Amino acid sequence: MTGSKLLQNYVNGEFVRGPREFADINPADGSVIVEVSEADESLVNQAVESARRALNGDWGKLTIPARAAVLHKIAGGIEKRFEDFVQAEVADTGKPVSLASKIDIPRGAANFRIFADLVKSAGLEAFRTETQDNVSALNYSVRKPLGVVGIITPWNLPLLLLTWKTAPALACGNCVVVKPSEETPATATLLAEVMQSTGVPPGVFNVVHGFGSGSAGEFLTSHADVNAVTFTGESKTGSAIMRAVAPTVKPISFELGGKNAAIVFADCDFDETINGLADAVFLNTGQVCLCAERVYVERPMFERFVSALKQKAEGLVLGWPTDDKTTTGPLISKEHRAKVLCYYDLAKKEGATILAGGGTPIFGDARDDGFYIQPTILTGLAESARCVKEEIFGPVCHVAPFDKEEEAIAKANDTKYGLAASVWTTNLKRGHRVAEKLHVGITWVNCWFLRDLRTPFGGAGLSGIGREGGMHSLNFYSELNNICIKL
Ligand code: NAD
Repeated sequence: MTGSKLLQNYVNGEFVRGPREFADINPADGSVIVEVSEADESLVNQAVESARRALNGDWGKLTIPARAAVLHKIAGGIEKRFEDFVQAEVADTGKPVSLASKIDIPRGAANFRIFADLVKSAGLEAFRTETQDNVSALNYSVRKPLGVVGIITPWNLPLLLLTWKTAPALACGNCVVVKPSEETPATATLLAEVMQSTGVPPGVFNVVHGFGSGSAGEFLTSHADVNAVTFTGESKTGSAIMRAVAPTVKPISFELGGKNAAIVFADCDFDETINGLADAVFLNTGQVCLCAERVYVERPMFERFVSALKQKAEGLVLGWPTDDKTTTGPLISKEHRAKVLCYYDLAKKEGATILAGGGTPIFGDARDDGFYIQPTILTGLAESARCVKEEIFGPVCHVAPFDKEEEAIAKANDTKYGLAASVWTTNLKRGHRVAEKLHVGITWVNCWFLRDLRTPFGGAGLSGIGREGGMHSLNFYSELNNICIKL
């Protein structure tokens, strides 16, 4: 980035070009921000080799407190260049500057700090064994790095998700090769600059740019010398990556798609619920894996609820991402907007009533060349409709009434996904009861997207494999070696 018009790969501590380039597009107006150098197979191989060398070199010999200190320095490096990160993320994703500066970039730094602190205090189990014939032994585990970890991330929360995996991987002593989304390569490259300037040894952190199949993503996941793969993205990509890692049998951690439900009971705090669900449906233009695309509302409150949500949708400010007043930016790309618009059309064919939105806005300026779309509320669809079953990943939800608690739970669970859900009620007993019955990785009661980074995060069904967060991350990124000593 620095001093260059080309975003380059970062391999063995140096910025290097691959043989081809692709364009990084600003979704707000369709303009080219910068050209990006795509890593070919040979560059991916070099990145993996340099990671292996670093692992076998000084990095592999660092004590846990020394590694933790490096992670804190990286966090400091992000904080020092906070504005650069915000600008890069806003340009790449089109997300409002208010969002990038409140959530994405602070979380990028926080991920390093929390795992630095956690790894220092993380204990491991120990057992004293006593057999029937009076043999005693002491068992204890030691935590070792997995080795070279391949990290593949999506475009919706680029720095946040990339650091969510990079930080615990480094905390556990691994070296990493990251492949950010082709749509959002900028903050990964900035992070490489931070790594370089904070003196992180060459090879510990590598960035390869490019696409999935037939490009850097596939070269990395199918590489025999990559010891583990952690991936966030679409479920069908997860399935392709599973096939790619199968021949070399490596640990995988997958955070995948969702079709998340919200259940609103008539006894909820109405304002809190409407505000919470307006975020849950529309935040980041609906492009958060945790967004609610299915909202079930207890019948006595249905009409009041949909009219308030409609007001919220129509009050969103679709503007330039750099404007402080903007609440809603564009979708990530032309292709993604075409996909979401297909669902808007399909909803009409499937018999939906479109209560708000349903199309594209017209601005009369350069934003018309961007990928904006109207926040949309659907009602009246059958539970079997594709728009109720498939992840759309846009600013859209279907709202349906329900009569009985069990009915709402059954409908919420009637999906192949199982990432997140939210329950809105002032009846605490009901909150607990319903939350436990939902087949998801996380259920929020009277809130949404409230994250404590020590808690397990992941999905059931098509939404993922494994859990990351807190000790779950440390356990995924470590090889535990049990040592049994006869006493
Ligand atoms: P995607 O699966 O299309 O791409 C994600 C990453 O995988 C990109 O870097 C891409 O280049 C790479 N990739 C694509 N094909 C590959 C292949 N064959 N081999 C290796 N790498 C490959 O996802 P996306 O469109 O970038 O992101 C949106 C999706 O991510 C949604 O489904 C969303 O729900 C999901 N998501 C899930 C979580 C979670 O925590 N569960 C978080 C954010 C996003």
